[in-house]
Amino acid sequence: MTNRNLLKIAEEFGTPVYVYDAESIKVQYEKLTSSFHRNTRFFYAAKALTNINILKYVNNLGAGLDCVSINEVKLGLKAGFPSHKILFTPNCVDLAEIEEAMELKVHINIDNISILEQFGNRYAGSYPIFVRINPHIFAGGNYKISTGHIDSKFGISIHQLRHIERIMNSTGLRIEGLHMHTGSEIKDPDVFLQGLDIMFELSEHFPELKYIDMGSGFKVPYQKDDLETDVPSLGKKVDHALKEFSKKTGKKVDLWFEPGKFLVSKSGHFLVKANVIKHTTATVFAGVNSGFNHLIRPMFYDSYHVIENLSNPKGTERIYTVVGNICETDTFAWDRKITEVREGDILVFRNAGAYGFEMSSNFNSRLKPAEVLFIEGKAKLIRKREEFEDLLKNQVEVL
Ligand SMILES: *Cc1c(COP(=O)(O)O)cnc(C)c1O
Repeated sequence: MTNRNLLKIAEEFGTPVYVYDAESIKVQYEKLTSSFHRNTRFFYAAKALTNINILKYVNNLGAGLDCVSINEVKLGLKAGFPSHKILFTPNCVDLAEIEEAMELKVHINIDNISILEQFGNRYAGSYPIFVRINPHIFAGGNYKISTGHIDSKFGISIHQLRHIERIMNSTGLRIEGLHMHTGSEIKDPDVFLQGLDIMFELSEHFPELKYIDMGSGFKVPYQKDDLETDVPSLGKKVDHALKEFSKKTGKKVDLWFEPGKFLVSKSGHFLVKANVIKHTTATVFAGVNSGFNHLIRPMFYDSYHVIENLSNPKGTERIYTVVGNICETDTFAWDRKITEVREGDILVFRNAGAYGFEMSSNFNSRLKPAEVLFIEGKAKLIRKREEFEDLLKNQVEVL
């Protein structure tokens, strides 16, 4: 997909608009599948981007689906994922939501002692489950997206292993999977191997173990000098570790990973229009027709997205602070060199496929953007831009 394609899409569908390049998702998926050889499966972390067309596309590629809410499970089933290729990994949900997932026959991953005990008491061995372990490895780009640290609400602490065993032994609970997800954007692939070693050690305690799920942490480059997780090298190391594990223990486990942003981040291009160029005493602002209501990563995580001016690619570079139109501090980027921006120009945020549209809101009573899938050379609308009526849809007028 070229910049020309993007400009045409902006013209045809208007802005702001999220555009996803299907081919890019396929390339990323194949990077994974061609790098790991021994019993390794990939479960796309739906929460990165749940448009039903993306889910269908990922299903057709052959991946499974990792879901964090019952509605993601339902979307996955609707998109065609068979239930055995769906893993439900919720956090702080009640037993009723877990029971709903049981009825849908998906794999269930339990991440606290309280529910584990209730589940064991009620269902004992009739429904094998996964357990999410917090191994207390600090990993991940920053505190907000790191889930393995000591203060994290995710998983059951590895120090509570005895408690898990107690519940397992006294209720007859069958634990067929161990799961960990220490956070997004792990820079050092050896963290995976460290985690894997911990899982191998834990496996001795779980006689029915069939699956080890290592979550995600696959990194993608957001800015020029960023690195992508070296997947081929990681694949080799993991293959080797699995081989040694089987040799040593005589056990065979399937290894699962749950990449979200690795699969869809690059595929996404978020197109906006420059509404106002404003020179203040210190700064030149480029104010665009969007805000953190559409792309919150820069404000929420201090994330960096490359921004380019598609309408004036050969212009002179100038320094801009790119801001949104929301009445709240709403800065996408400070002091960015962008080719001269004129009012009306179309700007693109790169790498906007993951946690972009998905985290959008109606703050300031603004409408959510449209989504377009670029597939086999054609641009297809996959979500209509919201309309004014949508703001009132669930409101009940009592006055
Ligand atoms: C969010 C999440 C992922 C995906 O993380 P990415 O950084 O997008 O790859 C995987 N597993 C679980 C349990 C998650 O919550």
